[in-house]
Amino acid sequence: MSVSAVCPRCGEVLVVRPETPGEGWCHLHAAVIPMHHTVVVAHDEITAITADARVPAWVPDPMAAGWSVTGLAWGGEPGARALVVACAGPAPLGGSAELVLAAEEPGIGLGCGYAGLPGVDPGELIDGPSTAAVKAAGQRVPLWPVPTGDDRAAFVGEAYGVWLWLVTWPAPAAWLLAEDLGLLDLRERVYPDLPLGPPSDHLLPGS
Ligand SMILES: [Zn+2]
Repeated sequence: MSVSAVCPRCGEVLVVRPETPGEGWCHLHAAVIPMHHTVVVAHDEITAITADARVPAWVPDPMAAGWSVTGLAWGGEPGARALVVACAGPAPLGGSAELVLAAEEPGIGLGCGYAGLPGVDPGELIDGPSTAAVKAAGQRVPLWPVPTGDDRAAFVGEAYGVWLWLVTWPAPAAWLLAEDLGLLDLRERVYPDLPLGPPSDHLLPGS
């Protein structure tokens, strides 16, 4: 199920003219790449969305016990230049946690939208020593923490020449990074028992 396109930087619904589907107009951020999303995910839908994407569709591999993919968001057509995979599952100390993995080309502002940062790219936020890392398609990717709201934790790094953002709700759910989280690019392989779950709250930026 596809619904209205939103701004990658704030999640507001955009005006998109049929003759220019690759460009949207946000009343706050002017011309942006429209983000589309689906809240009901199916394996063939994931394959269709990611097949011609220009950026990776990262998902934890293996998925932690009880975790599932809860939604996808993408922007830039043809061939997504920004891709989001949302996951949710049980938090270690009770309650539930959410994870958003976003890959985007520079200049779009999607990861900053999730983190609540004003710019479009992390800039000097990735100076100094990294504090965490993931193993993305087998390669170690250092991650830097970025300042964000108290209800979440956000990290950014670079993989395949584009930004890799990782945002968790609540903040302590960043425990996922404690033991070298592995990531699989769904463009390579959507395995048949990839667990799928109901929509979660933080699929779109600005929420
Ligand atoms: Zn906006």
